[in-house]
Amino acid sequence: MICDKPSNNKLCRMRFRTRAIHVGNPPESNTGAVIPPIHPATTYVQKKAGEWGTFDYSRSGNPTRSAVQETLASLEGGCGSLAFSSGMAATHCATMLLNSGDQIIAGRDIYGGTYRLLHKICNRSGVHVKLVDLNSPQALAGALEPQTRMIWLEGIGNPRLTVPDLPAIIAQAKQHNVLVAIDNTFATPVLLRPLELGADIVMHSATKYLAGHSDCLAGVLVTSSPELLQQLYFVQNATGAVLSPFDSFLLARGLKTLDLRVREQCRSAMEIALYLHDHPLVANVIYPGLVSHPDHDRASRLLHAGYGAMITIEAVGDFELTRRVVQSTKLFHLAVSLGSVESLIEQPASMSHASYDPQARAASGITDGLIRLSVGLEDPQDLIEDLDQALRAANG
Ligand code: PLP
Repeated sequence: MICDKPSNNKLCRMRFRTRAIHVGNPPESNTGAVIPPIHPATTYVQKKAGEWGTFDYSRSGNPTRSAVQETLASLEGGCGSLAFSSGMAATHCATMLLNSGDQIIAGRDIYGGTYRLLHKICNRSGVHVKLVDLNSPQALAGALEPQTRMIWLEGIGNPRLTVPDLPAIIAQAKQHNVLVAIDNTFATPVLLRPLELGADIVMHSATKYLAGHSDCLAGVLVTSSPELLQQLYFVQNATGAVLSPFDSFLLARGLKTLDLRVREQCRSAMEIALYLHDHPLVANVIYPGLVSHPDHDRASRLLHAGYGAMITIEAVGDFELTRRVVQSTKLFHLAVSLGSVESLIEQPASMSHASYDPQARAASGITDGLIRLSVGLEDPQDLIEDLDQALRAANG
């Protein structure tokens, strides 16, 4: 059972922040509790044999999961959504729309785990993968083949923070009847809503900004096509990687502050990026909010409320020096993942993108000196002081 009904028309017309709090969250009818209860039941009593009610078995549908799916669909502007046990489960489900012999074109600036799924799992069922620089319309035109079925890319890329020309890519894909799926994890629907631009599927590692507190592993698919929603639901129900009731609750709670968190994190990121830009021990700052970023103008056109809260920098030095920098911060935790209230630091070459083969890593510009920062909600001045002391300590 999938919940794809908009809560009610009045709520649908409300603004983003209001919908994040109210859509999918009606007061509980028996008690008046303002927070809907968590439903742990795995099975549901039927009125008659063979007569199905709204819910029958928790893999197929669960009230707590349905509620958060309703909120997510509203925030991304879709007709419905599906919540999964992780971002990779959601991505895998989307790729299972493809058949043996189909081709998927993926952008070069993608999460290492997505690269691994495409190259080491999807290939086993005969799906061909081509990595393409999606910033080049000529490269995309050259890569499209009659068997191309899907284009997969990230709204803000990982880790080089590229901002692809979604309207142009979607227009090119539509001419060839190719599905466009966007991993919107870095941008969030606060900054970018790809379905409004004509994309077919939006995916999230909801583990990141959507849940927002490093305590909930979750994935999401949203679409504005009822047919695609049914196809994806069929795969999800048949394969079973659904979000648990407790994690659905945590995700719903995180969504209520998403807008506030992301706007504030973007503000801090801009302040930190400007500081690092002038730092003598930083060779390069990659942040779409800086005019030096190759996609800055496009980011200004496409992103709504800021330029994201991820910053990638290149240290002045080699692999070992970069390791020392990421190991020297005191507030930034050395950890993969991102999008939470606490700031994180990592070295993509040895951590988030270690599953790339070395050649693909080099072609994607993931150098040994790259450092990825996820800016949280601490005071930005404290974060700046932490980065400064780490850069100085590492350079001894
Ligand atoms: N997409 C992006 C951009 C990510 O950063 C990640 C995880 O880091 C994923 C997908 C996978 O999500 P999950 O870890 O929730 O499975």
